[in-house]
Amino acid sequence: MPDKPVSRVLPYGKQHITEEDVAAVAAALRGDLLTQGPIVPAFEAAFAQYIGAQYGVAVANGTAALHLCTLALGCAGKKVLVTPLTFAASVNCVCYVGGIPDFVDIDPQTLLMDVGLARKKLEAAPTGTYAGIIPVDFAGNPVHIEAVRELADDFGLWIVEDACHAPGGFFADSGGARQRCGNGAFAELAIFSFHPVKHIAAGEGGMITTNDQALYKRLLALRNHGMTRDANTFALSPGDLAQGGWYYEIQELGYNYRLTDIHAALGLSQLSRAGAGLARRKQLAAQYDAAFAGTPVAPAPTSDGHAYHLYVIQVPGSADARKTLYDHLRTKGIFTQIHYIPVHLLPFYRGLGWQKGDCPHAETYYEHCLSIPLYPTLTDEEQSYVVNAILAAVNR
Ligand SMILES: *Cc1c(COP(=O)(O)O)cnc(C)c1O
Repeated sequence: MPDKPVSRVLPYGKQHITEEDVAAVAAALRGDLLTQGPIVPAFEAAFAQYIGAQYGVAVANGTAALHLCTLALGCAGKKVLVTPLTFAASVNCVCYVGGIPDFVDIDPQTLLMDVGLARKKLEAAPTGTYAGIIPVDFAGNPVHIEAVRELADDFGLWIVEDACHAPGGFFADSGGARQRCGNGAFAELAIFSFHPVKHIAAGEGGMITTNDQALYKRLLALRNHGMTRDANTFALSPGDLAQGGWYYEIQELGYNYRLTDIHAALGLSQLSRAGAGLARRKQLAAQYDAAFAGTPVAPAPTSDGHAYHLYVIQVPGSADARKTLYDHLRTKGIFTQIHYIPVHLLPFYRGLGWQKGDCPHAETYYEHCLSIPLYPTLTDEEQSYVVNAILAAVNR
């Protein structure tokens, strides 16, 4: 196909808003309750069903979801195993509650946290050093969370699966059964984001999924200041404070991390097309795989249950070659992105003692990675334009 410039800018990811989405939001605006109304629980139930988990707790964004997870599971004064190849929020959430992030390098084949390395760290530490582990389904490649569960059980750790990249992704467990990312079969809690670059856009928004009823109830309270109106759980007797229909208690410190019904309406409407969007992502990824096969461009790692939030190539040559390609593609209207600068090398984490060389695989990967356009409305023609621009530049 000729190198015909496309008229619009091609970002690495973007939302797909339909007239049905617009109508759903308009209907929410005409409803009685803009927040704490009926659409939030409807979205929670539908999302949990899509993921295959029993419960969903909708929150203001994915970062709030992570914060509530570390708050509920606890890690104050203890270490939590994290991956350097993620958005910083999956690590910041440990620091929010007084925990200490401990970066485990990636496996260069899968780009996911190296579970063998994690085990070595745990074996070398005195009992009680670690509280939990936060694996990330990077780019949409599902973590084999059953193996992480084994590790967690051996050392008494909780697991929060950061599945922001992988709604609809799955892996095959040791019995051959498909386990969807975030379904709660192996991890205590999982989290998702509805930022517009993610699979399901709500503007802002997040969700925690779980199969644990006690955690579910606690998270509902924590996202709403720690408030409870369930008389069965009241700590104070009616004679202590005059109680009536207005009465509530705050028994634990929480936050206002609620999602509005307006956002939930958009999320719910988007959710109805999640399967179609995922199918198109997979198709585009397969086309990229085919286009880059046998070229100097290394395609992204693949797997059956990959959810393809991102399509990340490895640019051959030096780190300068990657920058040259990034700048060149921008002149052609192709806005690629880097996922991610290794979190341990960001100044805040250097301040905690982390430095270059601590996670060599993530650091080498970072010097060559480039996330190229991947989203359901990317056309085949636009994709060919991207492929041709990359191959022309790399072969020059
Ligand atoms: C997007 C994202 C988050 C944070 O989600 P927000 O909704 O933007 O707060 C956390 N972890 C990962 C891996 C993400 O991609």
